[in-house]
Amino acid sequence: MRNKIVPFQTTETRGGVTLMYDIVIVGAGPAGANLARLIGDKYKILLIDKRDLGNYNPKQRIHKCCGGLLAPDAQKMIAKLGLGVPKDVLVDPQLFAVRAIDLTNNLERLYQRFYYNMDREKFDRWMVSLIPDSVDKKFNSFFKGFVKIQGGYEIRYITNGQEETAKTRIIVGADGASSKLRKIIGKDVGIPEKYIAIQEWFECSHPMPYFIAIFDEEITDFYSWLIPKDNYLLLGSALRLRDNFREKYNVLKRKLTQLGFNFGDKIKMESAYIYRPKKVSQFYVGMDGVTLIGEAAGAISPSSAEGISYALKSSLYLAQSLEKGIDGYFDRYKNMVKDIKLNLFIKNLKCPAMYNPLVRKLVMVSGVRCIK
Ligand SMILES: Cc1cc2nc3c(=O)[nH]c(=O)nc-3n(C[C@H](O)[C@H](O)[C@H](O)COP(=O)(O)OP(=O)(O)OC[C@H]3O[C@@H](n4cnc5c(N)ncnc54)[C@H](O)[C@@H]3O)c2cc1C
Repeated sequence: MRNKIVPFQTTETRGGVTLMYDIVIVGAGPAGANLARLIGDKYKILLIDKRDLGNYNPKQRIHKCCGGLLAPDAQKMIAKLGLGVPKDVLVDPQLFAVRAIDLTNNLERLYQRFYYNMDREKFDRWMVSLIPDSVDKKFNSFFKGFVKIQGGYEIRYITNGQEETAKTRIIVGADGASSKLRKIIGKDVGIPEKYIAIQEWFECSHPMPYFIAIFDEEITDFYSWLIPKDNYLLLGSALRLRDNFREKYNVLKRKLTQLGFNFGDKIKMESAYIYRPKKVSQFYVGMDGVTLIGEAAGAISPSSAEGISYALKSSLYLAQSLEKGIDGYFDRYKNMVKDIKLNLFIKNLKCPAMYNPLVRKLVMVSGVRCIK
């Protein structure tokens, strides 16, 4: 990509208004950081994130709640981007199997899968470390909103307790499942169903050699998980907001305890929203001038909740759409994301095999593709 660089576009005066930036990116998760990395040398960019992604502080309050598994699709995207994950981002153990526990049908199977097990916070920091110095970064900064001005937009954000503004030609929303930008511009578009993921970290001296996926319709119509991570065991569940999700989470814990799982000392509890695009129409990339990438666009697997590959792919597509300049970028981007739409369609077709209790029972009883 870097060989096909368009000349660096300085900020310009359009209609008498001096724009400070070509592009403001809101969110420095995998989508926003990857975009800033890819176009940071070509455009004048401001990258804003409420997290403190510049300085490592293990006690920082805001961090990304995630299972931290790098699935094969994400590994493929990392390869496509010409990157390799540093070993200090990884944690023990690396996982080659998923143990599927179906509590509804009282069944269990082991399937071969290849995941890199990682420290999600370190992964995000590593992605941020690859961004060129020419990108202005505002961390610990909270995006508030924007207004249309001549030739672009004026955005507002809070940094160090003060409100600041910046003028830009384009705003990119890479602000994840609670996207403020999507809320502002996508009022008429169906948003993906929103789940709340609750995740607890327990001390654990004997890590399991697999990732466990738990299916139980009494708890959720999505799934729950157990993931070993160094000396910890993560118990999480993606729960429906309309249910009494705290109670559902407690039911999950009770059922697993009855099955013999022993949860050690609790280190922390965290939660985050997670989008589940059950219809392709819920994938929404915004408009010319205010454009969405990653989970903010609804780019995340509705079957597995794997979102990192989608964040990397959609940000790559937007970077490629901007290679020929800003004019016409949105149509180019809309054209490129057609394959993400198709992928979401196919992933939705796959859902009944995992989430319809009867179909899932048939699949598991058949033993197809399981490790005997
Ligand atoms: C519990 C859980 C477990 C998951 N496990 C996995 C997994 O194992 N593997 C996988 O591939 N995917 C997983 N996902 C999904 C994955 O985390 C996301 O899909 C992926 O992170 C999306 O990347 P993104 O860059 O689009 O958004 P995010 O990673 O969510 O990044 C958004 C960024 O925007 C910032 N932000 C948001 N609002 C504002 C604002 N107003 N002002 C400033 N900054 C703002 C946030 O701080 C954040 O840094 C999981 C999700 C959850 C909730």
